[in-house]
Amino acid sequence: METISNGTKKLPILNNKIELDVDAELKSFELEQMAALGLEPGKEHWRDDNPTKFMASQRAHTTILISGLTMAHDFFLQGALRGIGYKVQAIDCPDNAALQMGKEFGNRGQCNPTYFTVGNLVKYLTWLRDEKKIPVAEIVGNYVFVTAGACGPCRFGTYVTEYRKALRDSGFEGFRVLLFQQQGGLKQATGEAQGLEMNPKFFLALLKAILIGDVTNALAYRIRPYEVVKGATDEALEKSKQLIHDAFAEPKKKSLVWAMLQTRRNLMNVKVDRTIVKPKVSIIGEFWAMTTEGDGNYGLQRFLEQEGAECDIQLVTAWILFMIWEQRWDTKQRMVLKKDDTARKGLAGKNAQKKLAMLWVAEKAIRGIFQTCANIMGLHDYHLPDMDKVAETASPFYNNHLRGGEGHMEVGKLIMNVKFKKATMTLSVKPFGCMPSSGVSDGVQSMVTERYPEAIYCPIETNGDGAVNVYSRVQMMLFKARLAAKDEYQKTLEAAGVTPEELKLKLQKSWWKRSALWYPKHGTVAAMSSNVAQQILS
Ligand code: SF4
Repeated sequence: METISNGTKKLPILNNKIELDVDAELKSFELEQMAALGLEPGKEHWRDDNPTKFMASQRAHTTILISGLTMAHDFFLQGALRGIGYKVQAIDCPDNAALQMGKEFGNRGQCNPTYFTVGNLVKYLTWLRDEKKIPVAEIVGNYVFVTAGACGPCRFGTYVTEYRKALRDSGFEGFRVLLFQQQGGLKQATGEAQGLEMNPKFFLALLKAILIGDVTNALAYRIRPYEVVKGATDEALEKSKQLIHDAFAEPKKKSLVWAMLQTRRNLMNVKVDRTIVKPKVSIIGEFWAMTTEGDGNYGLQRFLEQEGAECDIQLVTAWILFMIWEQRWDTKQRMVLKKDDTARKGLAGKNAQKKLAMLWVAEKAIRGIFQTCANIMGLHDYHLPDMDKVAETASPFYNNHLRGGEGHMEVGKLIMNVKFKKATMTLSVKPFGCMPSSGVSDGVQSMVTERYPEAIYCPIETNGDGAVNVYSRVQMMLFKARLAAKDEYQKTLEAAGVTPEELKLKLQKSWWKRSALWYPKHGTVAAMSSNVAQQILS
């Protein structure tokens, strides 16, 4: 028989075709590589034996610490979990002191969010020990920390190990860190879940806290830039957040719907002037870095507002929708394989159609609950992203199969911001040491901005120091954005043949359109003032 060599062995040729058993070839390559790396089958791998036991009997004296989203989310989650019987404490937003602790006790070469979040926990426990004089044994015995984690190509998969290392080195050996996996629900490393009961009540409480937190934040970022009396929005928000928190925490005494309606009333009383010309800045980038509201991104949202911009933030709900999209996409890819794959997430023994149907239901439920909360609280005309559209928009530049960080979302969002005039400027926050985010911001987005030269795009790196450099870079791009917003507003008014004063007079005629809760429908322009003009003058 005729044969050909592939360098290591001879392959038979039949009818002018090389007879190749791809699966066998892959297996032999895998074994070769494992041997080269000293990972022969049967070898015992290193495991971090985390202490993770949190039993139901410990619930009454155990405080669950949480942190990691925006201040509103953490506060509402605290209330929601208290309301279903847990002792919960939200830790403060991570600051530079937390970063220093993270760097002191963490491994070298971590990404910036790891240092901030790990250091924040160490900082809090150190405060309990040194300021509140609680003995370490009591801290270890009476507190647990719940955090997110995931397997994936970025450091998110190693967060829990980082926490363990830093806690060990800072004197809190044995402190329990429970993992709320990005995919796969809540899982304790031991497989036990007695302390935290993963029942529908628990997940519903989490979901409501997250969605209501999102609606609260979206309202705040819409209203604050246009408030007439400085500080009025924050004052209304603080009152409202406390009401929502208390309603979550005492469901038998207080009504959550009433608290949400009260929030609507409080915010409606804030006087606004939406004809002030401000560029709309869409903040995208790595999930934690764009979400946090403290030193982790140099307080970027507040800085942008101080500099005269309106922030368009990404909601946590969008991230949940992205996770559903990932599941749907992967399932559809697996459905066309030659045979069902038996990997952990494979379809072998599962009903793919049923899985797709459940994902469809989950997405509809999340969108439905969000919309209900939005309607009650007065967040009008807010459109959650269509994840298929984001994926399709990004796909010519970034493969939809790639995961890690925000995946293709960052690319899709930038293009959509430009193409559909969703924002005047796009600011991408990429943490120092983050591979997925740096790859996108420094690599792929350069190509995108070549193709869309009208984009005002500003990627910034957050590493904890260098705030002045970041601020000055943002200010330079904001200068361009401000000019673009002014130009857009003038052209919109010119096209309608009215002056800014005439527009204001028209706006004064409707109490609803003057109110803080009115939001103009998105037209063919980006900035708020231009959209107001388009809608009022159409
Ligand atoms: S996406 Fe980047 S910053 Fe975020 S956890 Fe992964 S490596 Fe770290």
